[in-house]
Amino acid sequence: MTNCFFVRQNACPACNYLMDMAGTTDGSPIMPEPNDVSICINCGEILQFDKHMKLHKISQAELNKIESVEPETYFDLIKGQGLARAMKKARGAR
Ligand SMILES: [Zn+2]
Repeated sequence: MTNCFFVRQNACPACNYLMDMAGTTDGSPIMPEPNDVSICINCGEILQFDKHMKLHKISQAELNKIESVEPETYFDLIKGQGLARAMKKARGAR
């Protein structure tokens, strides 16, 4: 993630980790928008921005839709989730 953007401060709905930045998986300079998906860098939860740019846990239906319509995005999400969880494990779960 070479291009990061400040977004409104959000607490992860899964672990309460506070985030105020988001970046793209391929480093492209694209500002996140409503309905974009994101991953909590602390716990790996897959999240989605609402129209107010607040993060929510993504629904399984939405995740299934991404898997069928944008399989590459889905793969990036699962890969990112695995990385975040591996880093958390390496830090020692707190
Ligand atoms: Zn989290």
